[in-house]
Amino acid sequence: MQFIAQPLPATKRVALVAHDNRKQALIDWCREHRELLGRHQLLATGTTGTRIQEATGMEVQKLFSGPLGGDQQLGAKICQGEIDLLVFFWDPFEPMPHDPDVKALLRIAAVWNIPVACNSSSADMIVRSTLMEESFEREVPDYQAYQRAR
Ligand code: PGA
Repeated sequence: MQFIAQPLPATKRVALVAHDNRKQALIDWCREHRELLGRHQLLATGTTGTRIQEATGMEVQKLFSGPLGGDQQLGAKICQGEIDLLVFFWDPFEPMPHDPDVKALLRIAAVWNIPVACNSSSADMIVRSTLMEESFEREVPDYQAYQRAR
């Protein structure tokens, strides 16, 4: 696999997802970082986005609910270079009927080399990094080279 450099922009497109038992934790985290998050673009799976918008008043672009395909919509956006940070508070204690989607979302985030936080301490460290509000170059798979090699 060959890679090319691709910048993450200074204004980040932040994807927010939380399983039901972790939604309050994500809402609390969003409240804590409301001022900073307000300078970026937020998108979320359906129920997570609705709850965050109600709790914080921030504008959130809402996709489908996770079990109905929202996780896969996020995965497609990651492939298309439309998401710069994934904050995904998944539930480590309860299996989900849509676990294959969860696994696929985490896998595609690894493939396209975007920052991922699965808990509040990781998310804190990411948003407190100076790179959160700077353009940041990262390596991604070179799709053209991949096609040529096939
Ligand atoms: P939800 O989906 O935000 O619609 O609850 C999250 C998920 O379970 O992936």
